[in-house]
Amino acid sequence: MSGPLLPPGVSERDFQSALAEFAGIVGRDAVVSGSSAQEAYLDPFAPGDARTWRPSAVVMASDVEQIRAVLGVANRFRVPLWSVSTGRNFAYGGAAPRLSGSVVLDLQRMNRILDIDETLAFALVEPGVSYYDLHRALKERGARLWADPPAAGWGSVIGNTLERGYGTTAYGDHAAAQCGMEVVLANGDVVRTGMGAMSGSRDWQVFKAGFGPSYDAMFMQSNFGIVTKLGVWLMPEPEGYLLARYAFRRDDDLERVVDTLRPLKLDDTIQSSAVIESAVRWAAGVSTRKEWYDGPGAMPDAAIDAMAKKIGIGRWNLRYCLYGPKTLVQARRDRIHEHFSRIADAELFELPYRESAIEPVGGGDRSQVGIPGLAAFNLLNWRGGSGAHVDFSPVCAPRGSDAMKQYRMVRDRAARYGFDYYGGFTASQRHMHHAFAAIFDRDDAKAARAAGALIRALIEDAGAAGYGQYRTHLAYMDLAASQYGFNDHALMRLTDTIKQAIDPNGILSPGKQGIWPAHPKEPGR
Ligand code: ADP
Repeated sequence: MSGPLLPPGVSERDFQSALAEFAGIVGRDAVVSGSSAQEAYLDPFAPGDARTWRPSAVVMASDVEQIRAVLGVANRFRVPLWSVSTGRNFAYGGAAPRLSGSVVLDLQRMNRILDIDETLAFALVEPGVSYYDLHRALKERGARLWADPPAAGWGSVIGNTLERGYGTTAYGDHAAAQCGMEVVLANGDVVRTGMGAMSGSRDWQVFKAGFGPSYDAMFMQSNFGIVTKLGVWLMPEPEGYLLARYAFRRDDDLERVVDTLRPLKLDDTIQSSAVIESAVRWAAGVSTRKEWYDGPGAMPDAAIDAMAKKIGIGRWNLRYCLYGPKTLVQARRDRIHEHFSRIADAELFELPYRESAIEPVGGGDRSQVGIPGLAAFNLLNWRGGSGAHVDFSPVCAPRGSDAMKQYRMVRDRAARYGFDYYGGFTASQRHMHHAFAAIFDRDDAKAARAAGALIRALIEDAGAAGYGQYRTHLAYMDLAASQYGFNDHALMRLTDTIKQAIDPNGILSPGKQGIWPAHPKEPGR
């Protein structure tokens, strides 16, 4: 039997010395190594063998000074650190590191909400603050502000924002609603971006740019630093809201739905993100697959039609929310209906207009009014067994023809691997995210491998058709990054140059988003 898992290129002696020094910094209870660390931090939804992405140890830091000291040790022993905030990045890898043998630097103990400014509508948070925490804090102080939750509200504001996650209120683009960061660099230097660089300024969360180059975006989906504070703009609570959805009868209605939606998003008639969901995606939230179909292969068209009819949904379903005073909401509602009612058999379902103090009841999407939940996990029972999923997430221009092309591409490829089309499009003002989930039973190794192989094939299909990913699981970071290959991968050359300059020992999250330092590389790379 081999010894303990080590970071690549680090001797067992050095590793033990590094662990002892980590314990001296953060305390013994905050360093875990061996199999218990590995088990708790493995990817629960791994598309294949979860042990492919195994940490050698976990270090829990409680403040910036500890992080700086940990970085000093990691630099000295060349120990790679994989930073997570709450590590709930499920379907994209959870808390597991891209490079097996990395030490997970878990920041969940840093969980203070440092500021909520009710006048200027922002918050400043540490890595361990979840969307639930922020929502609760806003409620407790009676602040008339909403934090936009992603589909899984238990994750952190910082982790989700750095991954460029999305929610569905009018502030659904989390990266766009970020303002100001504090970052610890690999050499231990502590940087504040934007106005935060000016010691006497109180405008850190008001103006993103500051003076000179702006770096915030550089710390998103990268391995250039450890983010320890982040400002987030909050949505002023509107007077009231109206939750609505349309059901569209035919599979090829998608094209017209997108072409009808685009101008209404572009001119802000629809203020929330607009979410287009396939029948299976809707059905997976309210039923299990075998109620509708129990045969081999993907669900046939006739079964999907029958299921949609029985549940009272369309082949495609569009959800959105309108915000503001009743008269303005009504005007938006009428204009939207004027457009969508032109699609044959389109059916509108809406909840009554409600004042914001009243939470939605009766099937409304609570996240569209800023209430976090765990809707992201609705799908887990669809296939039975221990449900898991892995996602394919290409960017899609809001053109009906592109949406239709991507949909057919994914549906057909998924069917060849025996998976249903569980998918949809989330439309922001100028682009859509197409999200497809391959749902599988994680206790079935063959199904997990098939899901993994399907996502790989989809990323390749998409790349060949000129479509790139906005986010991927650890398993596909290199593949997704390689699709961004203009001018012989000039973008990655620039990234590599920056990486080498600011993290010469390659200790920060090696391999994240396909960014590898010269050392340590994955064995065999
Ligand atoms: P969640 O908020 O869903 O729990 P994670 O904590 O798992 O998300 O973070 C998602 C990813 O974002 C991590 O895998 C890591 O690459 C990156 N990340 C998270 N927090 C930080 C941070 N504080 N500094 C740098 N990168 C981070």
